[in-house]
Amino acid sequence: MKVPFLDLDAQYQSIKPQILAAIDSVLEKKDFIQGKRCQDFADHFVKLHGGNYGVPCANGTSAITVALRTLGIGAGDEVITQTNTFFATVEAIAEVGATPVLVDCNANTYGIDVEQVATKINSKTKAIIAVHLYGNAGNMEAVTTLAKKHKLLVLEDCAQAHMTKFDGVAAGAWGDASTFSFYPGKNLGAYGDAGLIIFKDEEQFKLGSMLVNHGRTKKYEHDYLAGNFRMDGLQAAILDVKLPHLDTWTKKRQEAAAYYDVAFKERGFKVIEKEAKGTCVYHLYVVEVSNRDEVMSSLKEKGIETGIHYPVPMHLQPAMSSLGHKQGDFPVAEKAAERIVSLPIFPEMTKEQMDYVIKSFFEVAKK
Ligand SMILES: *Cc1c(COP(=O)(O)O)cnc(C)c1O
Repeated sequence: MKVPFLDLDAQYQSIKPQILAAIDSVLEKKDFIQGKRCQDFADHFVKLHGGNYGVPCANGTSAITVALRTLGIGAGDEVITQTNTFFATVEAIAEVGATPVLVDCNANTYGIDVEQVATKINSKTKAIIAVHLYGNAGNMEAVTTLAKKHKLLVLEDCAQAHMTKFDGVAAGAWGDASTFSFYPGKNLGAYGDAGLIIFKDEEQFKLGSMLVNHGRTKKYEHDYLAGNFRMDGLQAAILDVKLPHLDTWTKKRQEAAAYYDVAFKERGFKVIEKEAKGTCVYHLYVVEVSNRDEVMSSLKEKGIETGIHYPVPMHLQPAMSSLGHKQGDFPVAEKAAERIVSLPIFPEMTKEQMDYVIKSFFEVAKK
């Protein structure tokens, strides 16, 4: 049996006629870039997340960059985020000229360690970026309470967290700005690059909409130096076809994860733990082992794809050496990075595939 890491083809086959019709409609109407079709998708997406205003964007990375710029964060400012994230989070902070200040994560939820955030706040600190890694909602109550106390802005990196919730409120609706990625492999994936920012405030929405599009409101009048971070119409049309399925796809991921959880927990393996008030949408299904290389090669031989998200925390990335960190600075994230392995999970996964993954995993994995 073959078990891919995710099965984009199975999903495509299930919605192919609607996708092709949507693509045809973009080509017929030449809705190639930004414009009404992209804003319509952004409005639909934001409605589903209970936020206020959505800015369609080129990808999840530029969404973070533009969100930071819109909130007025730049040179001389510090932005606190967790070291266990995808590179884009820190890249965007550096891109706007601010300094990323890293903290460790919680060993069980992999969310930002809010107590450690508190120790890093100083007069230069402007914002906290909480990353809902793996789709597991971070403790937004703790993050927003701390931010309020110190008058800091809150950003949520929701690239892996479409439709996840904390205390009944969607990730994306907590922060001053929240960013999503529609990279093809994400829980809601385009057929190319796309992203989105959710703003709470209407003025910030207006500014953000300008900052994705050369700082302009009129065709050749530019109020700000900004750049081009626009969404393209084909991606918006495709995402709008997929969006109504997201709830069902998310539930199927959660069902698959629950099935895995029972098996792995029974044998004492460490899996993602949810916050007491949080949900997880399982962009990734992560389990910890002490013999990862062996596990990955053995599963590969059996036709099962796996991954590591992520093998090197941000404080140990060569590109971040200017932050002056060393091995040992964030022991929780470092230990996790050595032990985590991501197993296949996707909405179309069959029970037979899951049983095969579980059986093959137990044949080799050590706690
Ligand atoms: C995927 C991802 C991003 C970047 O999104 P792109 O659309 O690939 O630019 C940012 N942050 C996290 C946590 C991600 O997983």
